[in-house]
Amino acid sequence: PEKKVLASSADLSPSYDWFQTDSLITIVIYTKQKDMNADLVIVDCQDKQLRGEIIMDDHSYLIEVVNIAEKVGKVEIILNKKDNVHWKMLGQPCEGHNTFMKRTDRGLFYRKCKLISKTEVTHDTKLFCLMLPKGTHLRVPTGQHVYLKHIIAGTEVVKPYTPVLPFLPLDFQELPCHDGVHIYLMIKIYSHGLFTQALDHLQIGDYISVSNPEGNFKKSQVQTSENLLLLAGGTGFTPMVKLLNFALTEVSCLRTVKLIFFNKTEDDILWRNQLEQLALKDERFEVQFILSQPSKDWVGKQGKISSSLLSEFVKRSRRDSKVLICICGPVPFTEQGVQCLKDLGYSQEEIHAFTA
Ligand code: FAD
Ligand code: NAD
Repeated sequence: PEKKVLASSADLSPSYDWFQTDSLITIVIYTKQKDMNADLVIVDCQDKQLRGEIIMDDHSYLIEVVNIAEKVGKVEIILNKKDNVHWKMLGQPCEGHNTFMKRTDRGLFYRKCKLISKTEVTHDTKLFCLMLPKGTHLRVPTGQHVYLKHIIAGTEVVKPYTPVLPFLPLDFQELPCHDGVHIYLMIKIYSHGLFTQALDHLQIGDYISVSNPEGNFKKSQVQTSENLLLLAGGTGFTPMVKLLNFALTEVSCLRTVKLIFFNKTEDDILWRNQLEQLALKDERFEVQFILSQPSKDWVGKQGKISSSLLSEFVKRSRRDSKVLICICGPVPFTEQGVQCLKDLGYSQEEIHAFTA
């Protein structure tokens, strides 16, 4: 194979090679530097990209953007040397080095992210903007969540949250900042909530740990459907945000996207105005709000999830039309919803329930 020389002096410079088996691509990098330890190596790999930084005293060796060729599965790590120092070695292999295992068997990896802003969405829900550290490349795929970790009264507490977009884009031009640096979380603050109270007390500039993404939703489920139905209860709306945007901007076969959004009161409806704007703008999209504790002036639908309520909205356009129904909200809401859908004749394959 072609010999890769990354620095001026060939014998002291880092060098790498790669090899493959049917299931594995292994990249080997040599830095030739003493006193390296695991703390000095920061690597984040996700989706089709990989990024890593190796700290060497006051120098840093940066692995920057990568182009992963889908078809041949080739991973290219480009190392940007900050200074032209000679590297002797990359480091001793860590515990997980060069292993290939199930994602569920691999522990979650966290990095500390800075709180950039906190804006009100409703009376109890806020949009948190977190910034990934410079050495991290991480994009949370549609339908997946991350875990936030924080020490509360001396104990490590971990809770899952589903990243959203900073807003619902109304046209292709304003596609939200896929800058790869910011993560937006829409979080309801519970007055007696352990984690959300601590989150609410974070100051701008404070740090919080964010894990790698997780979740079993596959975009391909949407890519083959003609009708997409989203059933959300309260903050169960969060996975629907990226999903909605993905469906309306990237899925050409979709004819209708319907969101049925269950909340307690009008004041609890998240991004109501944005959803209404989107429905006006895109004729494929329709939104219906259903309240379980409406005030007297509410003229819209009311009630909780039930077969009779769903039967009004969930109708196949044709007997053989391809439908995907996504549901997310409080556990009993999701469980009842799935049961109702099955009672209405929808199959397991047509339903995706977001759960932990
Ligand atoms: P807790 O201390 O757990 O309590 C929450 C509230 O419920 C409090 O008011 C408490 O008094 C009450 N409560 C606690 N236990 C019970 C009980 N057994 N019965 C009745 N009431 C009880 N939330 C978001 O806001 N945004 C998201 O994007 C989001 N994404 C999620 C993704 C996944 C995959 C999952 C599983 C959950 C997600 N959640 C999301 C919920 C989130 O993980 C937390 O559960 C939530 O923030 C509450 O945490 P807490 O520690 O503040 O509340
Ligand atoms: P909420 O208490 O404000 O309820 C919103 C609506 O859900 C209600 O108006 C009602 O229509 C329905 N609902 C609530 N309890 C119900 C019950 N027992 N039976 C039937 N329907 C019920 O909701 P919230 O406080 O915003 O909570 C949202 C929930 O969504 C949380 O439990 C959170 O963990 C969950 N969530 C899960 C995910 C995920 O799994 N991926 C993502 C985000 C949020």
